Amino acid sequence: MSRAFVTASFESLADQLADVGRHCYERGWALGTSGNFSAVVRQEPLTLAITTSGVDKGLLEASHIVEIDARGRVLQGSGTPSAEATVHLAIVRARGAGAVLHTHSIWSTILSDAATDGSLMIEGYEMLKGLDGVRTHEHRERLPVIENRQDWARAVPQVEVVLRENPEAHGFLIRRHGLYTWGSDLAEAKRQIEILEFLFEVMGRKRGIAWQP
Ligand SMILES: [Zn+2]
Repeated sequence: MSRAFVTASFESLADQLADVGRHCYERGWALGTSGNFSAVVRQEPLTLAITTSGVDKGLLEASHIVEIDARGRVLQGSGTPSAEATVHLAIVRARGAGAVLHTHSIWSTILSDAATDGSLMIEGYEMLKGLDGVRTHEHRERLPVIENRQDWARAVPQVEVVLRENPEAHGFLIRRHGLYTWGSDLAEAKRQIEILEFLFEVMGRKRGIAWQP
């Protein structure tokens, strides 16, 4: 994803991130304090608007968003940036993304654990066409699965390798943890999360049915 995008003000992005966060909570994709969301405020030098840690996503407000620099230091707002801020920054750098969304849904948690050969393959579904650049249901979406960990600041090199080795992937899963996806802007990232979560639920429910056509 290399096309240019227009950045909005921090205040406007904070409002939009709060809306997206509450939406993800309402859909059951970011219950309690789980999940984190970010959007690029400025590219040179890079700054991100990102959710602070420990906030109930059902109650997310613009005041729960801070602006950080490329090293994760808070420039604006109050609170501690999400513990996974380094992953957001790595994705923005590697993919040229304008927004990064991370959810902890039931189906992404289940499917990340059922994946084989280090990835989850999704193919043959019409809804794949909702992903950026996909034109046919025959598309094969291969989502890499990364092992879960707690020290994400030190996981950046591994995340960068996964992104480099899977240039076509629209997201990646963390085992028994959740999904990361991104877009050129927040609206595109939100569409992508809706598409992927739909596909996870379809696949998860299908696997749970004994009879499979
Ligand atoms: Zn997480």
